[in-house]
Amino acid sequence: MRFQDPSACTCKSCGHTSAVPVRELLRLTAACPKCGESFREIGMSMRALSNDSATFFDAVQIIMQVEDEQGLEIPDSIVEEIRPWERLTISDLIAATNRCLSSSCTVRSAEQAVVSAIRTLFPSSPDSLDHHAPLLDAIVPNRDYGSSYE
Ligand SMILES: [Zn+2]
Repeated sequence: MRFQDPSACTCKSCGHTSAVPVRELLRLTAACPKCGESFREIGMSMRALSNDSATFFDAVQIIMQVEDEQGLEIPDSIVEEIRPWERLTISDLIAATNRCLSSSCTVRSAEQAVVSAIRTLFPSSPDSLDHHAPLLDAIVPNRDYGSSYE
């Protein structure tokens, strides 16, 4: 699955419904535009969603990390042109990053940028990352698909 982006969120404080970007919800920085009530709980519940959304969430996390580390903006539309979120590989993330790197003339390579982000977010990821495996398998080869996460 993937989240509706932006997502319609109803404020539990004032009842106002607004369209909120998924990234802000996942970053836990979203708030009601009318009264300022934090949407943190909504973001937390999105984070806790089932394994089906784990690839999407990991991909968004990696992209946000690359953006933060490199000072880039990688539009969702560029990622979506390459492959559906739930089937992304590291190679796809590198390709998406590369398109944004060249437009902003950054010297670092897209591969370095993506691998650096993965190392930061997933310190226990394998030394040798499989760029063509499904994202979850590449980052956590022995991931437990049951109810428990480590
Ligand atoms: Zn509100």
